Amino acid sequence: MSDAAATVADALRDAKVRGLDRLDAQLLLAHVLARPRSWLLAHGDASLDDPQRRAWQALLARRVAGEPVAYLVGAKEFHRLALQVDANVLVPRPETELLVDWAIERLAAMPGADRRVVDLGTGSGAIALAVKHACPSARVLATDIDPAALRVAQTNAQRLGLPVALRQSAWWSGIGSERFDLVLSNPPYIAGGDPHLVALWHEPTLALTPGGDGLDALRAIVAGAPEHLEPGGWLLLEHGHDQAEAVQALLQAQGFAAIETRVDLGGHPRCTGARR
Ligand code: GLN
Repeated sequence: MSDAAATVADALRDAKVRGLDRLDAQLLLAHVLARPRSWLLAHGDASLDDPQRRAWQALLARRVAGEPVAYLVGAKEFHRLALQVDANVLVPRPETELLVDWAIERLAAMPGADRRVVDLGTGSGAIALAVKHACPSARVLATDIDPAALRVAQTNAQRLGLPVALRQSAWWSGIGSERFDLVLSNPPYIAGGDPHLVALWHEPTLALTPGGDGLDALRAIVAGAPEHLEPGGWLLLEHGHDQAEAVQALLQAQGFAAIETRVDLGGHPRCTGARR
């Protein structure tokens, strides 16, 4: 019986009965008990006090109703960084680490320090901070249209001690005539009518979909990229599993070279990049 979750083992059993993923349940219970997840496994008979039981029941109910674990615990690990997240930002996804790895690879191949990088639509700051962490000598700018998202990114930058510049901007509108060696973005790319949006309603709509066919944000970024990239600079984009050809065509139309698409761990074409 849920209300009786008296021990760690009871609580995890409740979660299982209610259909929760095992890892999710462990993350939530570890959060409630302020213990590492590994502690739970060795302490199945440890008892929950009343406040802990109430907190657990509340989180369990919210998770069952579809709220992401990352929002419930206020944190998400991304590319080995512990990021704070809340409902103002998209929950960073593992597939986005592919974009970060590619960015690090590109930066490593660029001669000299002081390379300039921009992450358009940074949300929690995930991409910008992971790149700064891996390439401390790069000068990283992170933008977002939403001031609430920028506050989350700012908090993460401060907590992690990673100096990135933050600026409010709708894609290129706030960038003036600045140029970069590397432009990165995981923009909203889900089509307006996509049925998947229903399951994602806890996350900001602005971060998930530009409406229409899902390509408007990618179009805006690609269209403005040539005038904001140094010659030989790279544009790397995340996109939907069925958008690689469309993104390649956009890049081709803007005269980009070395167009390449990379596949994520799920086997989906997920990132496309090219050189100016
Ligand atoms: N850049 C952030 C991330 O990759 C946010 C992306 C978004 O909100 N579309 O997690």
